[in-house]
Amino acid sequence: MSGQAAKIDGKALSKELLREVKGRSAACVEKGVIPCLAVVLVGEDPASAIYVRNKGRRAAECGIETRDHRLPATTTTEQLLSLLAELNADPTVDGILVQLPLPEAVDSEAILLAIDPRKDVDGFHPDNLGLLMLGKPRFVACTPQGCMRLLESAGVELSGKRALVVGRSTIVGKPMAQLLLQANATVTIAHSRTLDLPGLVAQSEVVVAAVGRPNFIRGEWIRPGAVIIDVGINRLENGKLAGDVDHAGALSRASAITPVPGGVGPMTIACLLSNCVDAAERRAAGAAS
Ligand code: NDP
Repeated sequence: MSGQAAKIDGKALSKELLREVKGRSAACVEKGVIPCLAVVLVGEDPASAIYVRNKGRRAAECGIETRDHRLPATTTTEQLLSLLAELNADPTVDGILVQLPLPEAVDSEAILLAIDPRKDVDGFHPDNLGLLMLGKPRFVACTPQGCMRLLESAGVELSGKRALVVGRSTIVGKPMAQLLLQANATVTIAHSRTLDLPGLVAQSEVVVAAVGRPNFIRGEWIRPGAVIIDVGINRLENGKLAGDVDHAGALSRASAITPVPGGVGPMTIACLLSNCVDAAERRAAGAAS
């Protein structure tokens, strides 16, 4: 196949999703429930501060209240656990987001476990990961959820397709593979010990790259006509952002590809807010019954 791959436009799709979230949020407010996201940010990591600010802005645009809890880097695990206990018990809080990474001294696993799974809008709690595995998801992790929405928007029929997920993190690779499996793709997961990654990429009709290495998946590996979802966000020395896929090389082989930036990134925030409104809708339904 020759020509130029179509752009799968995450920026445009995220706007559509945010509009939908805004409408659902307004419907909650009519029922007396203001959707509310509690955001916990520990320490001074500048990238995390930017993410939190962006999430707050988008939430406000959708009519979702955010309550920021900014804590110093010296915060202990016990202090965080006690804050989470308060947020879990607060009936006006629908979603709890603990911005990662947490400072080294904090027991991140204990913190993620302490979030009420019914408020775990990130979908990282073992209960939510387990429900996903069973095919009965409550909250689906935002980045893989965004990737699935992008594939759907591009009209990709996944059933029977060979799909490759490169990366096996709990927040992206593993849930991504589950979602593709549930959509009846034949799924392979590659990681740092995988042999012959180029050969696997060459066989795959769908490739989701979540590695964290700029331009790592070479254009010439890609099967002609494949659909490429590039999750990677890598800051280059020149300050520009690059994905995990050699975008320029992929353009002449893939049939469709997400750009970086403007692909998966905007979808992640939109899916987070969609999860938060899901929780608020459950609260509103509970209040009505
Ligand atoms: P992790 O570092 O947690 O995982 C990276 C994965 O890549 C690991 O499973 C690792 O394998 C695998 N890997 C490393 N080297 C190779 C290799 N040579 N060949 C094959 N696989 C390899 O990263 P995340 O999953 O958190 O994130 C991945 C990327 O996605 C990053 O660029 C991150 O910035 C981006 N990201 C983007 C988001 C968005 O909204 N767009 C959201 C979240 C992440 P192993 O397990 O063996 O070590």
